[in-house]
Amino acid sequence: MKRIYLSSPTMHGEEQQYVKEAFDTNWVAPLGPNVSALEKEMAEYLGNGVYTSALSAGTAAIHLSMKILGIGQGDIVFSPSLTFSATVNPAVYEGARPVFIDSERDTWNMDPEALEKAFEKYPDVKAVLMVHLYGTPAKIDEILKICDDHRVPVIEDSAESLSSTYKGKQTGTFGRTGIVSLNGNKIITSSGGGLMVSHNEEDTKKATFLATQARDPARYYQHSHIGYNYRMSNVVAGVARGQLIHIEEHKALKKEIYRTYREAFSDIEEISMNPMNADADANNWLSCILLSEGCRITPEKIQNELEEKCNAESRPIWKPMQLQPVFSDCDFIKTGEKDVSADIFARGLCLPSDIKNTKEDMDLIIGTVRKLFGKA
Ligand SMILES: *Cc1c(COP(=O)(O)O)cnc(C)c1O
Repeated sequence: MKRIYLSSPTMHGEEQQYVKEAFDTNWVAPLGPNVSALEKEMAEYLGNGVYTSALSAGTAAIHLSMKILGIGQGDIVFSPSLTFSATVNPAVYEGARPVFIDSERDTWNMDPEALEKAFEKYPDVKAVLMVHLYGTPAKIDEILKICDDHRVPVIEDSAESLSSTYKGKQTGTFGRTGIVSLNGNKIITSSGGGLMVSHNEEDTKKATFLATQARDPARYYQHSHIGYNYRMSNVVAGVARGQLIHIEEHKALKKEIYRTYREAFSDIEEISMNPMNADADANNWLSCILLSEGCRITPEKIQNELEEKCNAESRPIWKPMQLQPVFSDCDFIKTGEKDVSADIFARGLCLPSDIKNTKEDMDLIIGTVRKLFGKA
């Protein structure tokens, strides 16, 4: 039985063309024309006059954002609780202390009310990480307004939301810096890589400088800063260029998967889909379900059933950061009694969202879930 994936790479052909060019011209390393072309093409795609720096990973882009914003020992950084650990790890690399902010129900992203509350408790916070979970844009205007009022910069982790727009503008272009990830399971992939995005060319130049061992402009190797080896290779950039051509196509297919699940489960009261933001056009990177409170079928049961009956890969919702052993000493800010992010974690599941899924694959997955709820 074939494997049905959560979200695996989908290649087209142009990728190999760009990689072949890199080999033919021996621009296999170190840098080369694909890297600068990708930076230009990604900046053009994102629009709004941004610049980009091509790096080895989205995580590296978050780390260099920390360096550029001067985040250091003992600084407070706010992060949504419901995210992947890579959002916040780079703050810890720099000795900063994360404080986790609960989710709201409307988009599953950082709750502006909880954020406001966190600012009261930690007025000296140095940066706010904003994430667009599973591709659904956060309440960007509300979050930016609060951060602007407090004059605190936003690092926009748009690793999951490349091609999602908010009020017509691409996510990744709203923060002081933005993050693109080209990791293997994202909406497009370079096999692994990322970019840092900024409206300020100085920021991206600084990112590129730090990413290439922070070498001073001198005849010999001289260093006035601690550098990193975070630059994207020319081969990897070739794959990314070939993928970028197809991003809108990938987005349309992801949206179709979401619509298909939503329609298929519309008569099952216990199932709702991950929410959309009315101000946004999401890329639907992963389609997720949320089971009603007290539902007799658990997410784990559905996950096991999809594995056994369909050979299909599903995945729990990101386990919230305040529940992670490694962050057990970090503060967590919520507005009410209930921990919303923990609730979504407990009741949610990411369904197979691979754009190569056939109609038969989707029918099999949907039929298996429906059967669990006693529906034909
Ligand atoms: C994937 C991901 C990252 C990390 O990107 P990499 O390119 O894998 O380093 C960061 N944040 C979020 C929310 C992600 O999903």
